[in-house]
Amino acid sequence: MRNTPKICVINGDGIGNEVVPETVRVLNELGDFEFIHAHAGYECFKRCGDAIPENTIEIAKESDCILFGSVTTPKPTELKNKSYRSPILTLRKELDLYANIRPTYNFDNLDFVIIRENTEGLYVKKEYYDEKNEVAIAERIISKFGSSRIVKFAFDYAVQNNRKKVSCIHKANVLRVTDGLFLEVFEEMSKHYEKLGIKSDDYLIDATAMYLIRNPQMFDVLVTTNLFGDILSDEAAGLIGGLGMSPSANIGDKNGLFEPVHGSAPDIAGKGISNPIATILSAAMMLDHLKMNKEAEYIRKAVKKTVECKYLTPDLGGNLKTFEVTEKIIESIRSQM
Ligand code: ATP
Ligand code: MG
Repeated sequence: MRNTPKICVINGDGIGNEVVPETVRVLNELGDFEFIHAHAGYECFKRCGDAIPENTIEIAKESDCILFGSVTTPKPTELKNKSYRSPILTLRKELDLYANIRPTYNFDNLDFVIIRENTEGLYVKKEYYDEKNEVAIAERIISKFGSSRIVKFAFDYAVQNNRKKVSCIHKANVLRVTDGLFLEVFEEMSKHYEKLGIKSDDYLIDATAMYLIRNPQMFDVLVTTNLFGDILSDEAAGLIGGLGMSPSANIGDKNGLFEPVHGSAPDIAGKGISNPIATILSAAMMLDHLKMNKEAEYIRKAVKKTVECKYLTPDLGGNLKTFEVTEKIIESIRSQM
């Protein structure tokens, strides 16, 4: 028997306080979990001066998975010179969550996954201003280590999730050294996975931005560097029902963090009308990570049915409340078990 998975639950701010408890309700239908609740976010920062207390980081490190809601990014004017670092960035760094996974599916003709390198590239934030020459410069770091582990992750993901092809997205025709290295690592590794039946190819980032709109069916798994992955993931979310439907995962060698793509949506927070599906689908990714694939599939089937039957919150044109959509999903899960 499997040990009970330990899940650190962080609601965060705004609608995180609505969609996360609903998701925990769904998980309780599917198995035994040890839930440990912890604080982080802007409300937490206002209360205790810390966006993510040390204690929360400790709990996250000791857990198998983290279920994360959403946190508000305060405006600089609100901060009055106090420094605020997004708790999600802190967690990514502390837990070395190097792979960001964003699946895009609409339960119909779209089904691909973007795997983005999460720790280097342009987001190492090595920026400086050369006063003398009046030039602003940003470094973009692509390491062999970082490239190898994300490319390996993408191929392993393809093997484990019955995917057929991995595409490397890059700009190696211009950025010959940095993206050249990324592509070289990819091509080298693809030889091994070809033997396991995984195909591979590569496309330029600019062409990919167009293909995602013109012919997204050509993709299966995409692997790319930090900035390109950030942009393509949001483009991909635009192809489906938008923010309320888009799940994501941040994975390291030890832990995994699962969160909806959307933020805390202060405009609708507290009204009980937020769409819980993005967070519930993130929980399905968490179950896959815990090798509870059958239970993950129950969730996805239930969400599919709920959407088909038009049991929807207002963002998708329905008039149901958050808890009513969850009820429908739970009903459907029960009918499958
Ligand atoms: P933040 O600073 O936390 O990112 P935001 O104002 O950018 O907050 P988002 O959560 O990023 O808000 O979402 C943008 C808009 O999309 C929201 O204003 C909200 O109306 C809508 N939205 C996002 N998520 C959901 C959801 N789960 N259910 C319904 N509507 C949503
Ligand atoms: Mg936002």
